[in-house]
Amino acid sequence: MELNNDKLSLIVQRVLLEMNEKNLNKKTRDGIFNTMNEAIEAAEQAYKDLSCMTVSEREKLISSMRKAILDNAMEIADICVKETKMGRKDHKYLKMKLAAEKTPGTEILNTKAYTGDKGLTLIEMSPYGVIGSIIPSTNPAATVACNSIGMIAAGNSVVFSPHPKAMECSLTTIKILNKAIREAGGPENLITSVYKPKLEDTMAMINHPKVRMLVATGGPEIVKIALSSGKKAIGAGAGNPPVLVDDTADIKKAARDIIKGCSFDNNLPCIAEKEVIVVEKVFEFFLEEIRKIEEVYELNEDEINKLLNLVLVEKANNKFTLNKEYVGKDANVILQSIGVNVLKHIECLVCRVPKYHPFVTEELMMPILPIVRAQNFDEALEIALQAEGGNRHTAVMHSKNVDNLTKMARTINTTIFVKNAPSYAGIGFGGEGYTTFTIAGPTGEGLTNASSFTREVRCVMVDSFRII
Ligand code: NAD
Repeated sequence: MELNNDKLSLIVQRVLLEMNEKNLNKKTRDGIFNTMNEAIEAAEQAYKDLSCMTVSEREKLISSMRKAILDNAMEIADICVKETKMGRKDHKYLKMKLAAEKTPGTEILNTKAYTGDKGLTLIEMSPYGVIGSIIPSTNPAATVACNSIGMIAAGNSVVFSPHPKAMECSLTTIKILNKAIREAGGPENLITSVYKPKLEDTMAMINHPKVRMLVATGGPEIVKIALSSGKKAIGAGAGNPPVLVDDTADIKKAARDIIKGCSFDNNLPCIAEKEVIVVEKVFEFFLEEIRKIEEVYELNEDEINKLLNLVLVEKANNKFTLNKEYVGKDANVILQSIGVNVLKHIECLVCRVPKYHPFVTEELMMPILPIVRAQNFDEALEIALQAEGGNRHTAVMHSKNVDNLTKMARTINTTIFVKNAPSYAGIGFGGEGYTTFTIAGPTGEGLTNASSFTREVRCVMVDSFRII
């Protein structure tokens, strides 16, 4: 076996994890256990310990976690890419930084009060206890970081079920966060998981009576499993975000923004531009602007067909399954796989396709951007609706026509609707507002934050504490 630097550093990470696991007498395991049952029991104890702390003490833990994420962002980004062989280190670093800086803490938890002749009633946001959080392979570490901040800010502990293919980067992040919590005076094992996670562990976690809430961030299958559990569950599922460009858009800017959003982390984010629909009047102009971008490669018809056979496997009735081998791969690597060698660095492959081409209707998560021509705005909107597939996840539009913008926003009714910017503005990267990597369309929490991980409780005092 050839031992390059990437393989060597993965081996070192694995040995460190194994040493941690075997050292059973060691006082702390930084949250990683042999069995899911042990991980949940430890998290239950940690939740009880956290309940004894004040909210300002909780906020100190959050500050320490933020610092640890920032301090280790590059190292974690590196492990993520080497382990999953998906995405880009520079962009994964930016996602970690975003999670550290823009995930809300305890400040987002609000208490409501009703006062009147009968006294005072408070509505407070109370933790669930132990939360079971399922992590995708496409964005493992930033989701662990962001969910940990939100769930702990809300007063919970969390048991993570990472994707087996993203075990090392997820467990490394958990260990770093637990260390930061301990250093800030917090309980051990506030964040736990299992060494070598398997699908059976996910099911054990879902079914464990001490896990009070489930948060599933992933594809449709796991969201369905979590929602069928009989427990309170948040489902953050798949998207296939369309972009619509109408004839009033700043075409040059639109072309650049779309390529930036589509190629971010090799198109892994569920919010990333997956297909673009352009009205006829500006279609050729838009293509010209796209072609001017150095890092873009336009596929010809033969290359489109080769790529189709490579990345999608056709089942019956025009249904496809994704060849996961190519998810999150660099554009140059994908090109090489169809026999095209381009010497310069390519960020995005673009192709002209008919409106319901599989590249438009399937969520590829690869830096491939299909471009569709529509006769007018209404047809473009209809195509965008079909492509989005009712996920109600994310859509983007480039336009200066307020009526068109409003019509698309209302009709497509997605959780995130970005106007005149790359899609990532929708999660606070270059746009206003906080960030999250768990976007809950199916269950309606939207962009989750600490308050999504709480239950409302009511505290009533009759007659007293009334001033007026
Ligand atoms: P995936 O659904 O294959 O896996 C997600 C998680 O679910 C993993 O931890 C996996 O181990 C677990 N899982 C999947 N099937 C399971 C089963 N049958 N039993 C037990 N556990 C199971 O998804 P992925 O490929 O890792 O991630 C990509 C998908 O996630 C895309 O569809 C993307 O759009 C979506 N996603 C959504 C959000 C969001 O916030 N809405 C964020 C990131 C990713």
